[in-house]
Amino acid sequence: MFLWRASLRNRLTIAMCAFSIVSGCAMQQFLRVDERRVDERLRFFLGGGGNSLVLSHGAEAFLIDTKFAGASQSLRHRVEEELLRDVRRILLTHSHFDHADGLERYHHLGPVLVHENTKRRLEARGVRARWVEVNGAIELQLGDELVRIWFPGKGHTDGDLVAYLVKRKLLVTGDLVTAQNEPVIDVSSGGDVLAFRHTLDALLQLDFVTALPGHGEPVGRATLVRLRDYLAQLELEVRDGQSRGWTEDEVVAGISMKGAPDLEPVPFGANREKTTRLMDRALRARKE
Ligand SMILES: [Zn+2]
Repeated sequence: MFLWRASLRNRLTIAMCAFSIVSGCAMQQFLRVDERRVDERLRFFLGGGGNSLVLSHGAEAFLIDTKFAGASQSLRHRVEEELLRDVRRILLTHSHFDHADGLERYHHLGPVLVHENTKRRLEARGVRARWVEVNGAIELQLGDELVRIWFPGKGHTDGDLVAYLVKRKLLVTGDLVTAQNEPVIDVSSGGDVLAFRHTLDALLQLDFVTALPGHGEPVGRATLVRLRDYLAQLELEVRDGQSRGWTEDEVVAGISMKGAPDLEPVPFGANREKTTRLMDRALRARKE
């Protein structure tokens, strides 16, 4: 979720600490991995960085997102020692440390599915793997589970992949959705505030019932609808302010967002003012 560059890894840790303090839990608590057993084949591992999903099939396991390296160690232990499965395929939803750092725990294993922009950022950090680029959509048949992996468009970054477990009507969104939070747009990783709501619209075309977000508890369709509607209303109000000749600061002060969904800010990550400023600049840049 977080927006720090690779060279600022220590700052990431500080941000995580601040997040945990603000949210009222200890750092240890924040990094704790909370296992949710859906059934014999499917488990969610919440926290320890971004949320992860493990889908077992035969002697293998398919893993989505590898968390921070430390948390990934315990995740791998649980999969191998408790589920008695080998992680053979990995999907990384995007390049942020809290989702991808733990890949180093699996580097000798099978293919790693990523968008080309995620691959480029990871390779710039020195990460090497047997990459499989997914820039459109592919399907994986894992036992009797059909998994669609898809790039729905820019939003949080310019390389967010999602996974749709067809039989279960379950969508794994990465940080395109972070529970009930303000949308997090990492411009330095190609995040796009104007494209975001269209990407959410594309996701809502899928027939999913439950979504596993990048952070927090599983959510329903209503969470994505709220996020899309929030961005749509914000864009409308920013456009209206600009048409009145308002400056960026006047737009920030002047929009009402009356009736808009109440989204929680992400400490050091996202809040309404930041999203408004991004929106204002993106719309002005489009006019130039
Ligand atoms: Zn992220």
